[in-house]
Amino acid sequence: MPRARVVRVDPIRPSEEVLEEAAGVLRSGGLVAFPTETVYGLGADAFNSEAVLKVFRVKRRPLDNPLIVHVSSLDMLHQVAVDVPDWVVRALSNAWPGPLTVVLKRRADLPAVVSGGLGTVAVRCPAHPVALKLIEALGRPVAAPSANLAGRPSPTRAEHVVEDLGDEIDLIIDAGETFFGVESTVVDLVSPRPQILRPGPVGPEELEKVFGFQFYLTPLTRGFSTYIETPPSPGMKYRHYAPSKKLVLVEKGSCGFSSYLDFLIDLLRSYSAESPALLATRETIDEIGMKLGADIAYIALGSRENLFEVAKNLYSSLRSLDKLDKISIAFSESIEEKGLGLAIMNRLRKASSERLVCK
Ligand code: AMP
Ligand code: MG
Repeated sequence: MPRARVVRVDPIRPSEEVLEEAAGVLRSGGLVAFPTETVYGLGADAFNSEAVLKVFRVKRRPLDNPLIVHVSSLDMLHQVAVDVPDWVVRALSNAWPGPLTVVLKRRADLPAVVSGGLGTVAVRCPAHPVALKLIEALGRPVAAPSANLAGRPSPTRAEHVVEDLGDEIDLIIDAGETFFGVESTVVDLVSPRPQILRPGPVGPEELEKVFGFQFYLTPLTRGFSTYIETPPSPGMKYRHYAPSKKLVLVEKGSCGFSSYLDFLIDLLRSYSAESPALLATRETIDEIGMKLGADIAYIALGSRENLFEVAKNLYSSLRSLDKLDKISIAFSESIEEKGLGLAIMNRLRKASSERLVCK
């Protein structure tokens, strides 16, 4: 029996009683897992350094990988950040609440451990009613990384939190599946070169509309693991979101689509003795499945035409890989890097142990 109490609430009208109980746990230095519109978060009172350290400990997260601080209003932003320019406040008044995290100058009285010792702080105002009301009930900012063990796929359902952290925390608020399924977009607003640090549901075009200028997108942001000791965001240097099975991401590269499908088929055939799995869109599974038959374990990510569906299913698909006893290797199709596809490919690159490019 896991230690955590799992309490089911309505995602739109969560019980006030449960929210008060959860705020009480946070107030007394405990940890609460709660849903946001992206993934489930593991919350602690951001101003209680002991509680924040507990978050790092139970997740087994490196101490230099900073947490995102969640606020319930634009006003609350000023409790954790200083020298916030007017243009940032104006932009956020349009973009929040939502899946957009901004890195700003940290207020000196916010414990440095929240930011992994950096002079900056990452802040976001989530749009999920449960997350918003929980922060409101506490009346203070909540530091909350994703509620998974470090390196594992992020949780999109309360069951995933139970799997990873059920024995370590006190309370899990279960409001069903999260909406986007990939973590928030993170942008750097303090360095002279505004940069996307992590692609997410708010894409480059939307960012340009919100802020009025273009953000830089580097290979590191796209999930290529060019190792550097001090990347612009510490999280970039860690492998992430990974299943424990070997996952090979098969990038489309410069291949035409039908050659790419043939490349996938050849690969799966050559690994047939290891009963491989294929993580792919429904359309690809239909096309490849006809040629390959039933010896492959197929995991459908959703439709190629609906990247919201693919993003939403991504992490539970990665988790389900680990539950397939027979297979030891999986191949994943790549997705076009447009809109949400940018976030999906970043996560797939960081989840995979190897990459192959079709040329
Ligand atoms: P998670 O909490 O699991 O959603 O991960 C938060 C991400 O935001 C990590 O990749 C962090 O490295 C990044 N992050 C948080 N705070 C900062 C900061 N102050 N500067 C740069 N990146 C940050
Ligand atoms: Mg995370």
